[in-house]
Order: sequence, then structure tokens, then C-alpha cells
Amino acid sequence: MNENVFSKADAIAKDESNTLRSYRNKFNYPTRNGKPVLYFSGNSLGLQPKGVNDALQEQAFIWAEKGADGYFSDWVDFHQRFLTYFEPIIGGQSHEFMLMNALTVNLHLLMVSFYQPTQERYKIIIEGGAFPSDQYAVQSQIAFHGLDSNEALVTLKPNTDEDCLNTSDIIESIESHGESIALILLGGVNYYTGQKYDMAAIAEHGRKVGAYVGFDLAHAAGNVKLRMHDWNVDFAAWCNYKYLNCGPGSPSGIFVHEKHHKWEGPRFTGWWSNRLDTRFQMNSKIDPIQNAAGWGISNSSIFSMAPMKNALQIYQNVGMDQFIDMSHMLTGYLASLINKELPQITIMTPDDSNQRGCQLSLVAPKGKVIWETLIEKHVVCDWREPSVFRIAPTPLYNTFTEIYELVQILKKILR
Ligand SMILES: *Cc1c(COP(=O)(O)O)cnc(C)c1O
Repeated sequence: MNENVFSKADAIAKDESNTLRSYRNKFNYPTRNGKPVLYFSGNSLGLQPKGVNDALQEQAFIWAEKGADGYFSDWVDFHQRFLTYFEPIIGGQSHEFMLMNALTVNLHLLMVSFYQPTQERYKIIIEGGAFPSDQYAVQSQIAFHGLDSNEALVTLKPNTDEDCLNTSDIIESIESHGESIALILLGGVNYYTGQKYDMAAIAEHGRKVGAYVGFDLAHAAGNVKLRMHDWNVDFAAWCNYKYLNCGPGSPSGIFVHEKHHKWEGPRFTGWWSNRLDTRFQMNSKIDPIQNAAGWGISNSSIFSMAPMKNALQIYQNVGMDQFIDMSHMLTGYLASLINKELPQITIMTPDDSNQRGCQLSLVAPKGKVIWETLIEKHVVCDWREPSVFRIAPTPLYNTFTEIYELVQILKKILR
């Protein structure tokens, strides 16, 4: 390989030809002691798009000026103005989406519908090392139905000496548990390893054994290409504060496939599950919305939702194809720099760019000390027990030069 490939000049040249480079200026960049940080935590909390203050003030103004009239002028279907943005991001139509609550709450609400254990069909399949909140949610759902997780919960484990799951092993598990599976609920991208699962194949094989298939897209939404509708996935949920930059605690999104929109099974409902045109007749019997919004219960959190427009418009302007191309380039650059310059560090995340998003999960001897030193050096990234620090270069605001600098800092620490 050419000597100059990993020079600073080369990183700068790559930034200059980066077609997304103007987008960085659309975000407020965090600083420490007046110096911009190297921010690689977009997988944890995406940065604030500029203009969020105005979006919040606009709603505060409506509240001040109109009081309760604001409901009918602006808020009664406030979520509606954001749903089409998710079509290219999640892969579905706007009526298959709803914005509400937080992610784990939505997983519970969706499991009320899509986990209906019977004597024969009662198991839930999740990935081993699923995000703790998801593990607690499925365990508590199983207990809620009076079942025992030791029998009803199947966790997929990687082979010995491997960190990631093979698609063929996942499919084999689905086939071997067969008709005892009620629900398959996996991450789209695993938060710990950074592995992206073959969601299309999992959905196909899950359907073959008659199970419902859902995905937690927390680390997949706004990170990898998703086609929930075409893959015939039953449901999905995600948070909008990670890659999608909608702000801390921003409402979670759900996807419910169109084929379920005339739902007559179990579901928790409230007045927001009722059609808008009959909602305020205040009838005692519900007239349910026949799309994903039928899973909505309460009126929207306007101030949490207001920043979404600024954030999602950026995705719309960039387009997912261009976004993913740039993501592959940035993360590929980081991976090749690590492989060449940092032999002490192992990348846990799959090498194949089709099996990962932008995040690389790194392992090294004394990894936690390395991570603590990175923090001292103004790098923002996170540590996840037991042994990983995660670096997520995001195409909207990270640069090749930042990646180059990160690797130089790591080289110094490891020396
Ligand atoms: C971030 C994340 C969550 C967070 O859940 P909240 O209910 O939004 O607090 C849940 N599950 C996964 C897989 C996550 O990555």
C-alpha cells in the first residue's frame, strides 16, 4: 500500500472531496475547555442540529398565544408531520409508522400484541448480549404471562471464540425451535458488537415457522439501509436520539406492517388510538385507527417532538444511498487505519461492510485504561462492560481528519 495513504494530507484530501462535508455545519459541535472534542458517540446521543431552539420556541409561542386552541391548530396530529421522513430511513409507508413514548415502553406495547403465548407456541428468541433493557422487557413479558424465562426465552449465542452470530446459525435455531416460537425479537444492529443482522433472512425464516418477527432498530435507524415493509417484518421500534439526532428523550418510533392494520388481537389503547374524526365525540366504545397509529395511546409530547423536523430534514436532504456510501467510506477508513497502525487493537465488529453500520467495537488489553485516556484527550466515545470501547464515525458530522487524529492519539496511548 502507498506510504502516503494514511497521512494527514490524505485525510484532509478525503474531507475536501467528501460530498457531505457541508452538513457538519448544520450541527452544534460540543466543546471541552473551549476546544472542539472528537465526537464519536453518535450511536449514543446524536448531536444537536442548529435551529432546534427556534423549533422549540415556535411551540412555546403557540402555547403562549393560543392556549388550548393550539391543540386544534397544531398539536392534535402533531406527529403526522414527521412520519413521511421515516419512509426511506425505516423502509415502509408513513401509515406504518407512529411516534410515541420511549423505546422500551413501545417494545412492551408491541409485545402485548405480538407476544401471545399458547401451550404449544410460547418462546421468544433474542440475541445473547441483547441490550439490557430489551432483555428485561422480554423477561418481564414472559413472567407477565405466568411463564418461566428458563423455558420460554431462547438466547442466540455466538460460537466459541467468536463474538458475532452467523446467519446460518440463527436460521438453524429458528428451524430447530420451529413452531414453539411465538416471537423473534432481535436488534437490527447489536449495540455491543456493532453486528448488523440479516433481517430479511431472519424475517423470512421466522415467518416460515409461523412466528411473529420484530426488530429493535435502536442502532440501525439512520445507520444502515432498512426495508421493514418489503422484508415483511411484523413490527419494529427504535429511538430517535441516537443516529437520528432528534434529542435526548425524543419520542420513539414504531413500525407495524400494513398487513396488521385491521388488528383485532390484544392491544392496549387510549383516546389517541381512536380515529381523529370521531375522537372528540367522546364515545365509550373505541373507533380504532386502522394503521400503526392505532397503537398510540396518549397525546404527543410536543416539546420532545419539535426538534425532529430539523434532524429528519437533514436525512431527507442527504438521501439514504449517499449517506450509506459515505458511512462505508468513513468506517472502512477507520478499520484500515486500525488494522495497519494499531496491532494491539482487535475489531470485534464484522469486517464486511454489509454486516455492520458505522460503529466499530474495539477490544484491547487494558481497554478500559485506554478508553479513560481517550476521554482525557477530548475524545468522546463510550465504554461498554465487559471489554469494549465503541467508536461510531457518523457521516453527517464526522470527518476523515478526525478519524486520523483519533488513530494518532491511540498510537501515542499504546506506545
Ligand atoms: C438505546 C437503546 C434502548 C434505550 O431504551 P429507552 O427505552 O429509549 O431508554 C433500548 N434498547 C436498545 C437496543 C438500545 O440500543
